[in-house]
Amino acid sequence: MSSLEYGPSDLGAYGEPRIEGQASAGAGPMNTLERVAQLVRTCTDCPLGRGRTNAVPGEGNPQAEVMFIGEGPGYQEDRQGRPFVGPAGKLLEGLLASIGSHRDDVFIANMVKCRPPENRDPSSAEMAACTKYLDRQIELVNPKLIVTLGRFAFGRYFPGEGITKARGILREKDGRKIFPVLHPAAVLRREELRPTMIEDFRAISEILEGGIEDSGMEPVVTTPEAPQPAQLSFVAAPGPAAIMVAQAETSTVNVEEAPRPEQLTLF
Ligand code: SF4
Repeated sequence: MSSLEYGPSDLGAYGEPRIEGQASAGAGPMNTLERVAQLVRTCTDCPLGRGRTNAVPGEGNPQAEVMFIGEGPGYQEDRQGRPFVGPAGKLLEGLLASIGSHRDDVFIANMVKCRPPENRDPSSAEMAACTKYLDRQIELVNPKLIVTLGRFAFGRYFPGEGITKARGILREKDGRKIFPVLHPAAVLRREELRPTMIEDFRAISEILEGGIEDSGMEPVVTTPEAPQPAQLSFVAAPGPAAIMVAQAETSTVNVEEAPRPEQLTLF
């Protein structure tokens, strides 16, 4: 059996692939975020554990109202053991600042906690093996809003749908509010997406203040008097629903499938 093929007897308590001789997180309770992080740092439940320098459990405010979920660690994240510390992380921090927030205010995690080789996409088996940690982090933080960054995190909740059409539309799944946005790395690759990303972040503030309700598949209502991003805050209400969330681009191209510049580590 190859490293990516698992039979029923190889599945652990959470349905994750179990690799012989390795401890599963199911062996111990994950009662705190720190305990989850400890287990992640020693986890070898999927092949990604073999190639990492550091696992990247995730970090942030344990009582955050907003939890961001990305795809997986990149080069810088693998070296530092922290999420979103490369170029995409800098962009994320700038977007948070544009709405009066900071990365310490939110919780940031990824679908997989160890870097896929050469920043390749994580496999379904790897995401399945790792989901027990993210599941528990979500339970422990219990955020008011989950913001998915990019198509893999969006696919966790709405498999088979395209992020290009879904982004910027508040949804609900399993009792949680889900707001999909593009991955910052996609914005770095395609500068023309930056205004869309900025508007989606402005919508995050509005959602938290109750100005935007779950709209299912419908686009969010727009008004012409949107405040400037610097006026917005996770705490201070920006006023009546003065936000414009652009509907998805008409292009059917999946922006995250664009070629990746080799000189940048974007995740
Ligand atoms: S990616 Fe997740 S499941 Fe795989 S070794 Fe790392 S922590 Fe464990």
